[in-house]
Amino acid sequence: PVHVSSFFASMLETMRTVAQKKRITLHGDIPDELFLEADEDKLRQICINLLSNAVSYTQDGGRVEFIVRDKLDEEGNEKVTITVSDTGIGIPRKDLPRIFERFYRVDKARSRGSGGTGLGLSIVKHLVELHHGTISVESELSIGTSFTVELPLMQESEM
Ligand code: ATP
Ligand code: MG
Repeated sequence: PVHVSSFFASMLETMRTVAQKKRITLHGDIPDELFLEADEDKLRQICINLLSNAVSYTQDGGRVEFIVRDKLDEEGNEKVTITVSDTGIGIPRKDLPRIFERFYRVDKARSRGSGGTGLGLSIVKHLVELHHGTISVESELSIGTSFTVELPLMQESEM
């Protein structure tokens, strides 16, 4: 199992360097003694993709938050939620249903120069589903975006 606090703390340090280049504040809120059964490389890829997007699609001087919580769902199963939210450009309502599709980018003008391929979120969704988790998004244009990944604390079978 992954020790959530040390794992995410070192990952956030890496991302802080990237965020600092745009003077973006990166705020983390992570529980101390929590262990999550997950594949470390895949978990890292999920979080780095979401954090990279948050930094890419947020103006200089903005803010990105990375919040981890554990909870019980309605059936009493232990879950971990990871929320990555930003004060960035937001995603138009009409595009929200499509952003997890391969190669989908909201529009060429806004993402030109960021050099992406439009694969990041499709990979994130695939990796989340490998862990039997879910991902959801809320966004408001010019206000910001928030992605929430919900993963079972324990996996029922090998990944
Ligand atoms: P890649 O991740 O492959 O380098 P990408 O970032 O364009 O390229 P995705 O990560 O799949 O691709 O994201 C798809 C699109 O969703 C982006 O092009 C962008 O328009 C939009 N998007 C993703 N995250 C955010 C965000 N935090 N704020 C605003 N728009 C976003
Ligand atoms: Mg991306």
